[in-house]
Amino acid sequence: MGKPRVIYWFRTDLRLHDSPALKAALDLEPAVLWPVFTWDPHYVYRARGGTNRWQFLLDCQNDLSESITKLNPKSKLFVLREGPQTLFPKLFEAWKVTHLVFEKDTDVYARERDQVVTEAAKSAGVKVISCSGRTLWDTEDVIAKHDGKPTMSMTSLLSATKKMGDVARPIPAPKHLPDPGEMPVDFDQEQPDVKPDVNAESRTKNDTGYRNIAGPNGDFAIETLEELGFAAATTPHKGGESRALKQLDGVIKDKKYTATFEKPKTSPAQFEPQSTTLLSPFLHFGALSVREFYWRVQDVVTSYGKGASTPPASLTGQLIFRDMYFAAQAAIGANFHQTVGNAYCRFIPWHLPSKLDADTGLATGDYHIDSKQAETWFQRFKQGVTGFPWIDALMRQLRHDGWIHHLGRHSLACFLTRGGCYIDWERGAEVFEELLLDHEPACNAGNWQWLSCTAFFSQYYRCYSPVSFGQKWDKNGNLIRRWVPELKDLNAKYIYEPWKAPIQDQKKAGVRVTGDGLSEAEKGTYPKPMFDFGERRNACLAAMKTAYDVGLHGHDEKVIRGTWREL
Ligand code: FAD
Repeated sequence: MGKPRVIYWFRTDLRLHDSPALKAALDLEPAVLWPVFTWDPHYVYRARGGTNRWQFLLDCQNDLSESITKLNPKSKLFVLREGPQTLFPKLFEAWKVTHLVFEKDTDVYARERDQVVTEAAKSAGVKVISCSGRTLWDTEDVIAKHDGKPTMSMTSLLSATKKMGDVARPIPAPKHLPDPGEMPVDFDQEQPDVKPDVNAESRTKNDTGYRNIAGPNGDFAIETLEELGFAAATTPHKGGESRALKQLDGVIKDKKYTATFEKPKTSPAQFEPQSTTLLSPFLHFGALSVREFYWRVQDVVTSYGKGASTPPASLTGQLIFRDMYFAAQAAIGANFHQTVGNAYCRFIPWHLPSKLDADTGLATGDYHIDSKQAETWFQRFKQGVTGFPWIDALMRQLRHDGWIHHLGRHSLACFLTRGGCYIDWERGAEVFEELLLDHEPACNAGNWQWLSCTAFFSQYYRCYSPVSFGQKWDKNGNLIRRWVPELKDLNAKYIYEPWKAPIQDQKKAGVRVTGDGLSEAEKGTYPKPMFDFGERRNACLAAMKTAYDVGLHGHDEKVIRGTWREL
């Protein structure tokens, strides 16, 4: 038997440090090792993903490729432009592969995809090795220790992981990498079955990428935004393992910050620099190992002693939340991302009243809104023209930068759902899915459920005001002045409520509060608020109470069949 011929399949683990899967590949002492990334049509064309996230991915790929080449000048990250399900069976044969190695990914789509690829490998006689490395603890072990149930609270996550022992220590990056083998691609190539202009708003129709499996120059080069059909990115945040490690070094250097970090005390209004680590996009693409992050922090906490913060508010607590959502998603499966069919997600009749009058079929109570109105509110939310400057500043920051602070995300998610618009959390999650650099399916859906009080959290009466919450952090409205330049010269007294500013103050600030923000806005104007927040909060609270009293969940027959209206 000859020495192993190994494909190392990079996906959301774009790093060399602390990679148990890469170590397993190298432990095989392969004759050849191909570091490969496959251009998956699911992400390229079907998933919602805006320009900024793609740019971050390309940064991570380029940085990884350079690091690979430093370890072996003959090697790099080889990008193949075809879906892994159809590509690998052909590679197995053409490249005479003996092993396929990758990091485990428990995301819903990833699991389906890996199952297909693993079966193809089996029939080709190729051995598959996959190792956990994306989370602090192996997500499947967590679920097993939790009797197969999803972890719907930090307590349940911690009680499951208590049986598993401490988080494993990170392992060092390799010092050298084997040569890649020959890479013939003279086989039939699949073209994607969908057009690239679906979903993401920022997508142009300029798709040139899928013509040649090895890229336009036949050299397996990393994609460009143009090939992917995107215009230039706007985010100032750059990706890559080298950057991630440097950024982590910067955090750890400040021992007091690291050891005493308490999330609720960090400001959502602080920018350049922000008040939290901004390491989430690196974790999403695996450019930073979560165990590396955890242990670097934990070691500081241990040496700091008295006065150090503890989970859930501490920095390690934040990472534990991430594991909690991963394990909840993996146990629930595809229904985790929606209400219908999800036994753990409370049913709220969003957009509509929770009670209908038996005779007229019309809403009782004053919280009725028709769905046309809700759609307008949704569009104004999405474009950052609600007329509430705090909300609009956050949405515009998200659109431009692809990242906002956790409590900013709280504000937006509460406002769209139970604390203002009464619009379905799934629609908000879709907006975040497109715009976030760190979009993590499990964390995004899970946090939207938390904020909409449909799962994980139930204190629906605790609501964020789009006025006083921002004021608490940022009296002068600096975040608003940065992202809503129409208001930059407005007196701080009115910056959160510009509709209250007398005409003279508006004139002085060079702005007029008028219009709905959707129709062609006149220069120098800022829209009126789209509703009276106090009224909407009361309406939402009443509707939430009714929905909680009714107590339906996504798996209830009435929800699945859509007959809940008969209640
Ligand atoms: P830090 O405060 O520095 O925390 C360190 C790390 O802990 C983060 O990088 C992140 O990986 C993890 N973390 C922190 N808070 C959470 C949390 N609540 N849930 C899960 N992990 C957490 N986070 C994502 O990674 N991807 C998402 O798609 C995502 N969507 C969200 C949607 C909503 C509606 C809300 C309210 C939160 C969402 N979060 C998401 C969680 C959180 O807002 C971000 O992880 C955090 O703001 C990232 O910034 P940071 O790296 O500076 O975090």
